Amino acid sequence: MPDPVPAPEPKRCPCGFDRHHGLIRPEPKYGLMGTLALVFAGAGARPLRIDYRCPRCNTVIETVTDPDALRAFH
Ligand SMILES: [Zn+2]
Repeated sequence: MPDPVPAPEPKRCPCGFDRHHGLIRPEPKYGLMGTLALVFAGAGARPLRIDYRCPRCNTVIETVTDPDALRAFH
């Protein structure tokens, strides 16, 4: 009998916060080209990824790279 697949647990930092917690702030990360676009063209660059970092323990809880999620963020 195969083991049942465990339900995916929400990712949490050691403080117990998930990325939807009010303290957690998304940190958009831009690649080099994105940074240049921001500098020279102002807003308009889409982040390469978004890190959700806990301000208390500095742990990156989750990194989002899904293009749809990034578009929604922007
Ligand atoms: Zn934490």
